[in-house]
Amino acid sequence: MRKLKTTFLALALAGAATMAVGVTASAQDKATVGIAMPTKSSARWIDDGNNMVKVLKERGYNTDLQYAEDDIPNQLSQVENMVTKGAKALVIAAIDGTTLSDVLKQAKAKGITVIAYDRLIRGTPNVDYYATFDNFQVGVLQAQSIEQGLGLKEGKGPFNIELFGGSPDDNNAYFFYNGAMSVLKPYIDSGKLVVVSGQMGMDKVATLRWDGATAQARMDNLLSAYYGNKKVNAVLSPYDGLSIGIISSLKGVGYGSANQPMPIISGQDAEVPSIKAMLRGDQYSTIFKDTRDLAKVTADMVDAALAGKQVTVNDTKTYENGAKTVPSYLLKPVVVYKDNWEKILVDGGYYKKAQFQ
Ligand code: BGC
Repeated sequence: MRKLKTTFLALALAGAATMAVGVTASAQDKATVGIAMPTKSSARWIDDGNNMVKVLKERGYNTDLQYAEDDIPNQLSQVENMVTKGAKALVIAAIDGTTLSDVLKQAKAKGITVIAYDRLIRGTPNVDYYATFDNFQVGVLQAQSIEQGLGLKEGKGPFNIELFGGSPDDNNAYFFYNGAMSVLKPYIDSGKLVVVSGQMGMDKVATLRWDGATAQARMDNLLSAYYGNKKVNAVLSPYDGLSIGIISSLKGVGYGSANQPMPIISGQDAEVPSIKAMLRGDQYSTIFKDTRDLAKVTADMVDAALAGKQVTVNDTKTYENGAKTVPSYLLKPVVVYKDNWEKILVDGGYYKKAQFQ
């Protein structure tokens, strides 16, 4: 402290220009962490970005947070900039998990630590760690909520169902779909669930860029092509933003009334508009992934890696990215219903009750 004060005094005496150099030098002592997020169009990524900045700042890092509005070249140039500007670690939630190989090669050459955040970065050995949730389990929970909502375990059925998948360039989308199908497939095989359109498999049900309007258009088509004299009883939706589109489509043809109730619809991210849709009875469930915990786990990885210490992971088998199996930390997702949302989301401090009034 004494030394600092003396230095400061000396600099002050030496004049403003020298002082500016002194300030810059001390700021440079803190490592900068580049944070590349996909889009602001979904509240979860805004929370992710804010939480990452908060936790990293608390730990003394500088941060460079960028959103790419789901534009792949945009995200690429943002990451390139971070590398050029001297980031010591990169935390990246990729838009397309396969497009970052070149820039990550440069990052590796500079000794930058690269962490895939929530979404796996594929096709490159130059990703060091992966911080995420148990993505297969997300799909299991989504499908189990449909199982519960329909009463399938109690032997009820047969029911009509349609399936939606996430973006085909997002590795998570396959984990969600496969997790869900691990629960739904036996019912489909036994005839208790009928996919009336016959559209199954990610090649048929994926939704590019997780776009709600795309999901809405597909639901419109499904309803008009296959449900003239039938009712849809459940829709597997992997993300709240898709559920919103699906719900609009269903409402457009009269679902949501006493004689034509809403199907059981799943979701993910526990976004405020979707919790409201759940309270109205339009959506049945969602999945909460606590971005505060993900930020903490990711910051722990940054801390350990930059200090040359052992990074804590809890999965070294699941996330093969085409070039290596990426050491991962998987957090637990939580299913949210109308009857537990308040306990989980409000009592847990994630949202304020007033946001729902
Ligand atoms: C995330 C989900 C999110 C989806 C759409 C996925 O990679 O894991 O939480 O719903 O992207 O943004």
